[in-house]
Amino acid sequence: MSLLPEKPLDFRVKANLGLALAAVFILTPFSVNNFVQGRPVLGLGSFAIVVVLGFRSWRMWRGLDAERLTLLVLVPSILLFLSLSIQNQGIVGIFWSYPALMAFYILLSERSAILANLLLLVVVAPQAWMVLDENLAWRAVATLLAVSVFAAIFIHAIAIAHGRLEKLATTDSLTGLLNRATLMDEIADAIEQNHRSAAPVTLFAFDIDHFKSINDSFGHARGDDVLVELAELLRTRFRRIDRIFRTGGEEFLIILSGTDEATGTMIGEELREKIASSQILRERPVTISGGIASLLPDDSADAWLQRADERMYEAKNTGRNRIVG
Ligand code: GH3
Ligand code: MG
Ligand code: MG
Repeated sequence: MSLLPEKPLDFRVKANLGLALAAVFILTPFSVNNFVQGRPVLGLGSFAIVVVLGFRSWRMWRGLDAERLTLLVLVPSILLFLSLSIQNQGIVGIFWSYPALMAFYILLSERSAILANLLLLVVVAPQAWMVLDENLAWRAVATLLAVSVFAAIFIHAIAIAHGRLEKLATTDSLTGLLNRATLMDEIADAIEQNHRSAAPVTLFAFDIDHFKSINDSFGHARGDDVLVELAELLRTRFRRIDRIFRTGGEEFLIILSGTDEATGTMIGEELREKIASSQILRERPVTISGGIASLLPDDSADAWLQRADERMYEAKNTGRNRIVG
């Protein structure tokens, strides 16, 4: 098994790697200092946090889940370390609560981070009153609360922006279907899944017949409406796990998970009939020509796509309004 991940790292994994690296550089000197100053428990605590941060980053890097490990091991360790630190060093321990509050938003999902932050406040606030004078304790808790709320707002805004950008980058703005940019990633996922589970997977590529003449006869806007309505029909006909792409102007592709070639051909044929008999365009029937191709054991992504395309062109060349499997 290779140490390197097969796919580019997403921004969450990168942020977590960055946090782990920052923790190594920032916490290690304090860890060493704690040992030198005769506070071995604190030294061990901060060292353990760095080790767990590193381990969970490695897990995320490998594409494995780290949320449970973080909630059940890392967050309690950090809270314990903060408590020890406050008991031993007073306000210095409170200082460490601020980066911890921020770090929880990088380490955890938004909801878990809010929970972890509430826990931190519940653990730290009473101790602030024990080790600080009342004036300072109030200020410490108020500023902790402010940092926690601002971080929550900040992260929520980033999550919304990220969601919007991701949607823009992965979907087609006219139909809302997945776009060509995501196709190769999804095909690679489908191939990987097939190698792991041996469940069949089938491509269904199709293209609207004589679409140019629809545009020419009724105008580009009506042509657009046809594309939008067809996409809506696809969304209602296919399952959630089937990935539906608009790969070009009036060309579509569907990855049918757990479907063999015979079943895929049946599904394609059903869709062809459904579209031909629909009222997508009042004036004349809209028809499609499609090709069906199941993944073969030694197929590359390109070979698989090419087979589906070739069959689609065969359907075009042999009269249109048909499916070739
Ligand atoms: P065939 O049966 O061989 O597929 O013929 P066709 O006319 O459908 O194929 P062709 O590739 O010649 O024409 C596709 C047309 O689709 C040309 C282009 O103007 C039109 N088109 C591409 N993208 C869009 C779009 O977003 N909206 C509209 N209305 N038309 C589009
Ligand atoms: Mg066409
Ligand atoms: Mg075309």
